[in-house]
Amino acid sequence: MSKPKIAISWNSSCGGCDESIVDIEEKLLDIAPLVEFVFWPCAMDFKYEDLEKLPDNEITVSLINGAISNSEQERVVTLLRKKSQIIVAFGSCACLGGIPSLANLTCLGKIIIGSYFGSSTVENQADEVPVSEHQEGEYKLTLPVLRDTVSTLDMIIDVDYYLPGCPPTAQMVAGALEAILTGKLPAKGSVLASDKSLCASCSRNETKPESIEIKEIKRIHEVIADPTLCFLAQGILCLGPATRDGCDYPCIKGNMPCTGCMGPFMGGDQGAKMISSLGGILSGENEKDVDSIISAIVDPAGTFYRYSIGASLLGRKRTKDE
Ligand code: SF4
Ligand code: SF4
Repeated sequence: MSKPKIAISWNSSCGGCDESIVDIEEKLLDIAPLVEFVFWPCAMDFKYEDLEKLPDNEITVSLINGAISNSEQERVVTLLRKKSQIIVAFGSCACLGGIPSLANLTCLGKIIIGSYFGSSTVENQADEVPVSEHQEGEYKLTLPVLRDTVSTLDMIIDVDYYLPGCPPTAQMVAGALEAILTGKLPAKGSVLASDKSLCASCSRNETKPESIEIKEIKRIHEVIADPTLCFLAQGILCLGPATRDGCDYPCIKGNMPCTGCMGPFMGGDQGAKMISSLGGILSGENEKDVDSIISAIVDPAGTFYRYSIGASLLGRKRTKDE
């Protein structure tokens, strides 16, 4: 019997998701002899032609990380869908858009101008921006075309399973690989992670009072946070109530509040969940008081949707230029 074939592919991502696969350490050595890697651009020199030559449905599982922001990524994931039995959206960028989808809060034109003309570290004496096609003598050079909207993987292809996290923990990766290779998978469309909130397992949950009243929102760098108390009880924004459990809360252990990288639990919109949680605990006599408390949130979209703009109710901001 032939070994299960695995493909690992990346799109707009930082490489951390590929790193998390290597981080399963000796478990990778256990798995490696049992499978055949047929595509993993970050680690091995496969070409797109190798993928194209495979019969349809030949790949047992493709783990695809990163959000989709250009034409090449769209082409490769569509090809992987055709060649794969199971597609896993791997990591929060693939599942929810992640940090790359914060680009949806502006427009492509402004991103290009900011990157090629507005950055103090970029020298652009010829005032040029990348073009998708360029003729140099007899050679035609091409670059992928940037999309004006950064999308989640399931906006482009059908996805079978979701593994959130920025990146998913080594434990989550090992568990997902084991479930896939032993065929012990839940229903299609499931998230291969806990469906509780981070607060449920957070070590500081027991210090969270029954009722919290926030009179002033403080940013973590403005205070010396008590390393034992719930952040919200200290008036520091912590996205634990709106974030999926499963990361083993490394940020909280490091005395930093959760910024929400595991995405929302039980579906729904992470920012709306967090805003609704906050709505019940901001303490003001009147609307003006509450406005004054929330004015301390410097970047509301980036705070409540740092990892999930692509999949959120907001989705995409239209600018006057469009
Ligand atoms: S709000 Fe943050 S610190 Fe408080 S219990 Fe939830 S995750 Fe822990
Ligand atoms: S505590 Fe929050 S931000 Fe930190 S790893 Fe967990 S989910 Fe991500």
